[in-house]
Amino acid sequence: MIIIMQSQAQEAEIQAVVERIERAGLTAHVSRGTERTLIGAVGDERQLSSEVFERLPGVEKAMHVVKPYRFVSREGHSNDTVIDIRGIKLGGGLPVQVIAGPCSVETQEQMDAAAEAVVAAGCRMMRGGAFKPRTSPYAFQGLGITGLEYFLHSARSRQLPIVTELMDVRMLDTFLEYDVDVIQIGARNMQNFDLLKEVGRVNKPVILKRGLSATISEWLMAAEYIAAGGNHNIIFCERGIRTFETAYRNVLDVTAIPVLKRETHLPVIVDPSHAGGKAWMVPALSCAAVAAGADGLLIEVHPNPCEAWCDADQALTPSQLSELMQQLRALGAALQRPLA
Ligand code: PEP
Ligand code: MN
Repeated sequence: MIIIMQSQAQEAEIQAVVERIERAGLTAHVSRGTERTLIGAVGDERQLSSEVFERLPGVEKAMHVVKPYRFVSREGHSNDTVIDIRGIKLGGGLPVQVIAGPCSVETQEQMDAAAEAVVAAGCRMMRGGAFKPRTSPYAFQGLGITGLEYFLHSARSRQLPIVTELMDVRMLDTFLEYDVDVIQIGARNMQNFDLLKEVGRVNKPVILKRGLSATISEWLMAAEYIAAGGNHNIIFCERGIRTFETAYRNVLDVTAIPVLKRETHLPVIVDPSHAGGKAWMVPALSCAAVAAGADGLLIEVHPNPCEAWCDADQALTPSQLSELMQQLRALGAALQRPLA
């Protein structure tokens, strides 16, 4: 950490900062300039809080020099992390993986038809929510464990690893018992720190969606909660953020893709469905995501979108998904970012 003293700072104030640094077990390096004094705190600075120093008399500003997130940062981990999901690899410049499936699990027939569509389009993993975070408590909340059973029945017979949302820490053991392949932490739970700590203790891959209004730094710190528990199998998922714009559900933050790829070694995927909120926007947003360097996509598809119990407007039909996959293959070839 670097502490910049005010130009009028007294010697006693400088000494007070030095003592505070030494009390925390770090070494202080005082550098006296013509205008002002700078003090460097050398050691594990993550335990120091800049606010504490900024409260001290004579201090102008205190700044961290290392990232506050240790495990998810590229600092000290320059190679990209590749996540292995039942033998399917995600990240590290490997071919783009598309995960597709309905917003929510509804019936066995719906999941069978959706799984058929996922396979027919050439996607290698399937999504589907059995536990749904709905804005209204009166809306369909998901089938729960029965939904997990329908999902597994449709996906396992087709060798499709499954991605499904965990909302409540009390269901974690059930997810492990059912051998869910990828645990999704939804946008609304991005800062549910107790939930993050618990998924940090298991070794299942986790998709961490960006909170509705989360900054990149808050998102990285949320991932650090998972990583700090020992689970480094984390996949970031940009799914659109809240802005002043009301013409679409959320704004897909394409800028976040290269920024995250620079800040972290972990894979970054994009959910174009929850970003635009309309099926017709999904192809354009998917292409933008791949062009910007996303490692994968998470797309909603339903055998009969008009009948979907949740997020009907944004679900692709099976034929739209197949068409999109062809488009992405062509784009991928042009960009040397092939589809898996
Ligand atoms: C979902 O993936 O179905 C979902 C609810 O997404 P989000 O948490 O991004 O809103
Ligand atoms: Mn949805």
